[in-house]
Amino acid sequence: MTGIHLDDSVMTTRLDAVVNWARKNSLWPLPFGTACCAIEFMSMMASRYDFSRFGAEALRFSPRQSDMLLVLGTITNKQAPILRQVYSQMAEPKWVLAVGVCASSGGMYRTYSTLQGIDRVVPVDVYVPGCPPRPESMIYGAMKLQEKITQETLKGRREHIERFYASMARQEALQEARGLSNHQVVREMVLAAGENGDQRIW
Ligand code: SF4
Repeated sequence: MTGIHLDDSVMTTRLDAVVNWARKNSLWPLPFGTACCAIEFMSMMASRYDFSRFGAEALRFSPRQSDMLLVLGTITNKQAPILRQVYSQMAEPKWVLAVGVCASSGGMYRTYSTLQGIDRVVPVDVYVPGCPPRPESMIYGAMKLQEKITQETLKGRREHIERFYASMARQEALQEARGLSNHQVVREMVLAAGENGDQRIW
């Protein structure tokens, strides 16, 4: 009588591993393009570089339908609250790529009007260096993000979410108490964080 070999038909794994596998291969990008890096991004999405290979060709210009925010260009202090709002409207889980030196650190714009790195206002998962980064660099950044997603745990992600939304609650409370605009509150929070040496408001 032939024996039953469970090895042939049963596969065991962890929930985190299956969920992360699905997540990393179905990223939906939201381009937040403000300057020249966005042009390079267009090239990455076109046929020569074929970003579709990564299952990430479905561009969505609504934060509610995307999970990979690509910040492509210089972000001014006035744009910081808008970036925070866009990020907060994206469905969880979500990830952020700072593309180019402007988004990563303010780049050569060491001025009062430029945000010195988007990680001051939103969590960044991968920084892509360059001015502008070539499409290959952006693809490499996306592959690094995929590696990172593979190693995530559901518990770790929950802590990540809670930290950001606690900062949004602080922002709203400050705005209500002081009667300031969104932009003024975020600017104050960024300046206060700089004085504390932390630099990040979330
Ligand atoms: S990093 Fe360079 S190419 Fe990209 S937005 Fe800044 S100045 Fe433009």
